[in-house]
Amino acid sequence: MSDNERIERDFNLRSEEDKKAFLEQTWCDHCQEVNLGMVEPEEYELNETIFIEGKCAKCGTVILTELTDEEF
Ligand SMILES: [Zn+2]
Repeated sequence: MSDNERIERDFNLRSEEDKKAFLEQTWCDHCQEVNLGMVEPEEYELNETIFIEGKCAKCGTVILTELTDEEF
Protein backbone atom coordinates (compact mmCIF):
# COMPACT_ATOMS: atom_id res chain seq x y z
CA MET A 1 0.00 0.00 0.00
CA SER A 2 1.32 3.39 -0.91
CA ASP A 3 -0.58 6.21 0.71
CA ASN A 4 -0.73 9.71 -0.64
CA GLU A 5 0.17 8.71 -4.15
CA ARG A 6 -1.48 11.10 -6.52
CA ILE A 7 -2.56 9.56 -9.82
CA GLU A 8 -3.21 12.12 -12.52
CA ARG A 9 -6.44 11.84 -14.48
CA ASP A 10 -7.59 13.78 -17.52
CA PHE A 11 -10.38 16.18 -16.67
CA ASN A 12 -10.80 16.88 -20.39
CA LEU A 13 -11.99 13.32 -21.01
CA ARG A 14 -15.20 14.13 -19.16
CA SER A 15 -18.30 15.06 -21.11
CA GLU A 16 -18.94 18.71 -21.91
CA GLU A 17 -21.92 18.57 -19.58
CA ASP A 18 -19.82 17.24 -16.69
CA LYS A 19 -17.06 19.76 -17.24
CA LYS A 20 -19.52 22.62 -17.37
CA ALA A 21 -21.15 21.47 -14.14
CA PHE A 22 -17.84 21.10 -12.32
CA LEU A 23 -16.59 24.46 -13.51
CA GLU A 24 -19.76 26.34 -12.72
CA GLN A 25 -21.17 24.67 -9.63
CA THR A 26 -18.59 25.67 -7.08
CA TRP A 27 -18.33 26.73 -3.48
CA CYS A 28 -15.54 29.09 -2.50
CA ASP A 29 -14.50 29.07 1.17
CA HIS A 30 -12.79 32.40 0.79
CA CYS A 31 -15.61 34.27 -0.97
CA GLN A 32 -18.28 32.29 0.95
CA GLU A 33 -20.29 32.19 -2.23
CA VAL A 34 -21.59 29.51 -4.54
CA ASN A 35 -21.17 29.23 -8.29
CA LEU A 36 -18.49 31.82 -8.80
CA GLY A 37 -16.85 29.42 -11.20
CA MET A 38 -13.50 27.69 -11.24
CA VAL A 39 -10.51 27.90 -13.56
CA GLU A 40 -7.49 25.68 -14.28
CA PRO A 41 -9.17 22.39 -13.37
CA GLU A 42 -7.01 19.37 -12.56
CA GLU A 43 -8.29 15.92 -11.83
CA TYR A 44 -6.50 13.26 -9.84
CA GLU A 45 -7.00 10.22 -7.69
CA LEU A 46 -5.66 10.01 -4.16
CA ASN A 47 -6.28 7.22 -1.67
CA GLU A 48 -9.00 5.77 -3.92
CA THR A 49 -10.89 9.04 -4.07
CA ILE A 50 -11.23 11.25 -7.13
CA PHE A 51 -10.57 14.94 -6.67
CA ILE A 52 -11.13 17.83 -9.00
CA GLU A 53 -9.06 20.80 -8.05
CA GLY A 54 -9.27 24.28 -9.51
CA LYS A 55 -9.08 27.92 -8.58
CA CYS A 56 -11.93 30.26 -7.75
CA ALA A 57 -12.57 32.44 -10.80
CA LYS A 58 -13.00 35.44 -8.51
CA CYS A 59 -10.25 35.23 -5.88
CA GLY A 60 -7.96 32.40 -7.02
CA THR A 61 -8.33 30.30 -3.86
CA VAL A 62 -7.98 26.58 -4.51
CA ILE A 63 -11.31 24.79 -4.69
CA LEU A 64 -11.28 21.07 -4.10
CA THR A 65 -14.17 18.82 -5.10
CA GLU A 66 -14.19 15.29 -3.78
CA LEU A 67 -16.14 12.74 -5.78
CA THR A 68 -17.82 9.76 -4.22
CA ASP A 69 -17.91 6.39 -6.01
CA GLU A 70 -21.34 6.95 -7.50
CA GLU A 71 -20.12 9.98 -9.37
CA PHE A 72 -17.16 8.34 -11.12
ZN1 LIG B 1 -13.25 32.91 -4.16
